[in-house]
Amino acid sequence: MNVLILGSGGREHAFAWKIAQSKKLKNLFIAPGNAGTAAVGTNVNVGLNDFESIKKFVLESNVNMVVVGPEDPLVNGIHDYFLADEQLKNIPVIGPKKDGAELEGSKEFSKKFMQKHGVPTARYQSFTKTNLEEGYAFLETLSPPYVLKADGLAAGKGVLILNDLQEAKVELKNMVAEAKFGAASTTVVIEEFLKGIELSVFVLTDGNSYKILPSAKDYKRIGEGDTGLNTGGMGAISPVPFATPDFLAKVEEQVVKPTIAGLKADGIDYKGFIFIGLMNDNGNPSVVEYNVRMGDPETEVVIPRIKSDLLDLFIGVSNQTLHEKTFEVDERTATTVMLVSGGYPEDYEKGKVMTGFDCIENSIAFHAGTKQDGKHIVTSGGRVLALTSFGTDIKDALSKSFANAKKIDFDKKYYRTDIGFDLV
Ligand code: ATP
Repeated sequence: MNVLILGSGGREHAFAWKIAQSKKLKNLFIAPGNAGTAAVGTNVNVGLNDFESIKKFVLESNVNMVVVGPEDPLVNGIHDYFLADEQLKNIPVIGPKKDGAELEGSKEFSKKFMQKHGVPTARYQSFTKTNLEEGYAFLETLSPPYVLKADGLAAGKGVLILNDLQEAKVELKNMVAEAKFGAASTTVVIEEFLKGIELSVFVLTDGNSYKILPSAKDYKRIGEGDTGLNTGGMGAISPVPFATPDFLAKVEEQVVKPTIAGLKADGIDYKGFIFIGLMNDNGNPSVVEYNVRMGDPETEVVIPRIKSDLLDLFIGVSNQTLHEKTFEVDERTATTVMLVSGGYPEDYEKGKVMTGFDCIENSIAFHAGTKQDGKHIVTSGGRVLALTSFGTDIKDALSKSFANAKKIDFDKKYYRTDIGFDLV
């Protein structure tokens, strides 16, 4: 098979690394890819949302399957575009159509969906500038902290958690009336604050059956001890020690089954990943959010733990035979530590020469913001490289990721030295 992966991060390198091991693979393409994906496939210089150019490439190169990494092309309807085109309609796309992508594209849609299908989630209401007064009144019924969410995609920045009622009212007005997050905040979801500890569970579905992938926990803040600004993610671990078999059984019964059944009942033919952001409150799951793709850097610990052939699982997704596929998981713990450019997530410099790749031992280096520049690999983004390692436990795996984090060098390199700190 010839496979095209869309994306350029550590997530897509992890997909590429895994799919490259499949006996069913003939040619692997990654658009646009990075210096790491170039080592396991062929990078293609095509934009993620340039559907016309993607079509041209797919037809020229006889691509038999498209795997979509990030949410943007999904929310923009790449799957629908393929289905509507005579020449593309039989080429499977791994990732939902526009209707399914609304689970991530609109928080109001996803809250309504959860409520309708009995999926546990925080109590909520949504507001626009036409019912702002009702929004203030709803805030008064809640106790702090107040959670305000822009309905649309806002690059991970559209959620405000505020302790002060007055401030919450002002921010609500800023969001709906002053377009604080542009069109994304025309509608705002206000919801109850959930207590507990967060984790993610990932599901791969063909619309009928599903496989629950290993659980993971990521570390979002830039600073040690989970402080400072939010980032795309500074590291991750899998499995999550507090995701006990009992808790995961509740997740399957109370969240996964009604989600898959709900999609079907609503006529949404969903083929792809569902990332379920969960709060574990005293052993009970509550859904914080759905994403319609894998997480990054969670993919860099989840995918290496899957022993089965990922391409074969994708084939099962595309022809709805996922239930026939074996699915085996490596019992070991995986950790990943993200090396980032100094200054990230604010201003940072690019183009720094990276060294030390030959010295890496006992870790897999998944490239994120890297590119080949002549003989050198140079940095080309904020998040640069994810170092994934296996171990008997978190500490053991982390010791390998950190040992290799020291060996890779580039000017102004930064990484957190406390990934997993709360769990060991
Ligand atoms: P991201 O892009 O980072 O996934 P997002 O913008 O899609 O985030 P959410 O995941 O809904 O938004 O919220 C961001 C974060 O805010 C969550 O990961 C969680 O830590 C916190 N959060 C969201 N809703 C709640 C809630 N009801 N109670 C407590 N914390 C919450």
